[in-house]
Amino acid sequence: QCGMVAIVGRPNVGKSTLLNKLLGQKVSITSKKPQTTRHRIMGIHTDGAKQIVFIDTPGLHIEEKRAINRLMNRAAASSLADVSMVVFVVDGMTWTEDDEMVLKKLSHRNGDRKIVLAINKVDEIKDKEALFPHLETLSTKLDFDEILPISASKGTNVQRLLDLAQSSL
Ligand code: GDP
Ligand code: MG
Repeated sequence: QCGMVAIVGRPNVGKSTLLNKLLGQKVSITSKKPQTTRHRIMGIHTDGAKQIVFIDTPGLHIEEKRAINRLMNRAAASSLADVSMVVFVVDGMTWTEDDEMVLKKLSHRNGDRKIVLAINKVDEIKDKEALFPHLETLSTKLDFDEILPISASKGTNVQRLLDLAQSSL
C-alpha cells in the first residue's frame, strides 16, 4: 500500500521542518529566510507494508501576474493531482494574504482527498486560549477533514498527522 501526501503552505510556516519531523531525518532544507525551498522536496516514509511519499510543495502562494509565476504555480498544483491527503500548514497566530492564496488554490480542486489543516508553532503560543478565535475563523474557510494544532519542531501531534496520512492511502 502506498501513496502521496502533499505539504502545502506559504513560506516560513514550517513545511520543511514538518517534513523532516515526519521522516525523522534531515532531508529538507529549513531556514529563517523564506523560499529556500524553490523546488519540490520529497521523502518516503515506510512503515511495514505502507509507504508514503511526502511532498514539500512550495509556490502555491505565488501571485500569477507573470507567466513564470503561473508556470511555478502550475508545477506546484500538479503535484496535488494524485495525492491522497493534503496537509495545509499555517502559522499558529498569523493569517496572511499568502495563506489566503494557498487556500483559494486548494478550494478549486475537489476529489476525495483529505485536507488537514495543521496549525503550526503552537509551542510558541503561551496563552492557548488565544488560539480559539483563530481556530474558529479558520474552520469556516474550508471544510477541513481535521484541524490539528501541531509543533513541527517539537513534534507535537506529528504522529497523529502520520496516522491520518496512513489512513488516507
Ligand atoms: P517553510 O518555509 O514552510 O518550509 O518553513 P521552515 O520549515 O523552513 O521553517 C521556517 C521557520 O520556522 C524556521 O526558523 C523554523 O525553525 C521555524 N519553525 C518551524 N516549525 C516550528 C515550530 O513548530 N515551532 C517553532 N517555534 N518554530 C518553528
Ligand atoms: Mg521550506
